[in-house]
Order: sequence, then C-alpha cells, then structure tokens
Amino acid sequence: MPTYTDEGIVLRRIDYGESDRILTVLTREHGKIGVIARGARRPQSRLAARTDLFVRSRMQLAKGRGELDVLTQAEPLAAPAMAHDARRAACAALCAELTDRVLENHHADAEIYTLVAAALRACADPARDPRAAIVWFARRMIDRLGYAPQLHECASCERTLPAQPAGFSVTAGGLLCAGCAVHDPGAIECSVRVIKVLRTAASGDADLWARLRLDAATLAVLELIVERELEQHLDRRLRSFDVLRAIEGSGEVGLQLH
Ligand SMILES: [Zn+2]
Repeated sequence: MPTYTDEGIVLRRIDYGESDRILTVLTREHGKIGVIARGARRPQSRLAARTDLFVRSRMQLAKGRGELDVLTQAEPLAAPAMAHDARRAACAALCAELTDRVLENHHADAEIYTLVAAALRACADPARDPRAAIVWFARRMIDRLGYAPQLHECASCERTLPAQPAGFSVTAGGLLCAGCAVHDPGAIECSVRVIKVLRTAASGDADLWARLRLDAATLAVLELIVERELEQHLDRRLRSFDVLRAIEGSGEVGLQLH
C-alpha cells in the first residue's frame, strides 16, 4: 500500500470492531479524510492517546483500498488539554462539528487547517474565553463560505446604518435599520457594542479580536447570530450549540427583538 505523511487533527472518532477506531481527520495537505486506526483501543497501543479528539499530530498513513486510509504512526504535535473542562470541550466540539459539516472530503485548504488548529488551541487556552474563540471561528467560516453579512448598510433598504442599535436578520443577510427591523420578526437585537464587535470580526484582525474583552450578554447575542446563520446556510442545526447551551445553563430568552 502506498504511504504518505501529513499533519492532521482528529475531528471525530467512533469505536469500530474489537479494538479499532475510525477517525475523521482534517489534514493540512489532503483535506478531510476518513482513517482507520487499527488496535487503537488496546491499552498498550501507541495510537491510543494519539487518536484522541482534537489532537494534532504528524501522521503516517497508508492508502486503503476503500474509503478509509490506514493510520500507521502518529507523532503528537499538540494535545489541547480540556478533557476536564466541559465548557472548553463543548466549544472545541462545536469547532470540530462545524468543520466536519462544512468541508467536503479530500479538498485541501491550508488556510482552513490553520484556522481550525488555532481555534482548538484557543478553546484550550486558560487565558482565552472559549466562547469568544468559537464566535471568531464561526465568523471566519461563514465568510469563507461566501455568506459575509452586510454590516454597514441596512441589508433591506440599503441606507447607511446610524450609530445606534440595529436588528440582525439572517434571511436578509445582515443588519437592518430600526425601520426595517420591525418588519422582520426573526431579527436579533444588536446593541452598538455588538455591532462594533461584528465589524471587528469581519475585518479579520485576529490579534485585535484576541484582545477584546466580551461580556456574557454580548457573547450570547454573537453566538445566537452565528448559530442562526449556520442553521440557515448549512440547512440544519449544529447539535453542539445545544450541548454548549446546556452547559452554560442559559436559554435564548430575552435575546429576541420582538
Ligand atoms: Zn433599512
């Protein structure tokens, strides 16, 4: 079997057979691939810890005959430590679920690979709020999908938005002025602060984003916006949002404009 090496991140894994694992791996040079790690569930297997979720490693793989390539060796590069922090793990799971949903197999995209690696690192970083990290990641992915929202002119009447609260409409594709927002029952109320933060995210300045201190209310609105956008553009819900919400113990109550 021909072999190759690549750097990869474990996005998803399931147990298979007696002691194997089947992994969904995002690789730098081969895109998203399906991989079988034979014997990875045996306690003495050297692949055991290296096939944990979100671990990034240098992988040696063999081309399989079917859909799955075979993982023969893995040398860990980064193992984000968040197993004991349910909130961080849920945020990482959301990044992984979104990545898995958005990408097709075998389409290499080094930029997305770097983005995913950075998001998982941020989710595990004690100095960072993992919810801010997922908002940033989701915003970048939505832009990459070609659905960057309109944030400076009203997405309905096209007038320049004044510096005051506005409604975010997923169906209109961006912010609505107060006059248009009243006609959109699904519009999400955005404070001036939320609008500023959305524009910062759209600028793509990762360093500036990392320096922002986002309070819980702002984050909740930003999260609701990306959740609704992804639901609209991917045509289904991401389950990880429900898990995260259950952990946070918060609902969506009070975030609607109407
Ligand atoms: Zn308008």
